[in-house]
Amino acid sequence: MTPDALKSLIRTIPDFPKPGIEFRDITTLIGHGEGFAACVAMLAERAQAAGAQAIAGMEARGFIFGAAVAAKLALPFIPVRKPGKLPVPVLAVDYALEYGTDRLEVDPDAVGAGQRVVVVDDLIATGGTALAAVQLLRRAGGEVAQALFVIDLPDLGGAEKLREAGVPVQAVMAFA
Ligand code: IMP
Repeated sequence: MTPDALKSLIRTIPDFPKPGIEFRDITTLIGHGEGFAACVAMLAERAQAAGAQAIAGMEARGFIFGAAVAAKLALPFIPVRKPGKLPVPVLAVDYALEYGTDRLEVDPDAVGAGQRVVVVDDLIATGGTALAAVQLLRRAGGEVAQALFVIDLPDLGGAEKLREAGVPVQAVMAFA
């Protein structure tokens, strides 16, 4: 399946979650078995090329793609969670996102010292979420080798910010 064919599986919802926002919805992509498999295969290939030793995904949509990539490569999956979900002492980072503020948490024991971690999420917009995840994973002792997204919104500058923070970035598709 070509990147263009995959792109045609993304549904665009106008004015969600607020007026003026064009929401790129992956529900229709993961609802297409062949498309989902092709997308996971592309992400897995890039994670492997980056020398991934573990895959981290951000709750919730990063779990869908990140866990699938980790299982395909038989690598550990590190869940980067929304606040209050983990039953152990956590590392936490507060961050600004496109539609407000939020916090991410990680179990420090889930990350190996010097482990090459590849971050996976469905979409990068301003980069706030991904930068927070990178900060957390680094604090936990990991080395963030690569960040992978299904969708990049390059006009919002997130991928550029991640690169400035020393993280190589790739996306399966972009909506400019
Ligand atoms: P950022 O922190 O501004 O880069 O926003 C990225 C995060 O917000 C990701 O975890 C996405 O799941 C979510 N997000 C932002 N915009 C969209 C969108 O248009 N479609 C789907 N998710 C989005």
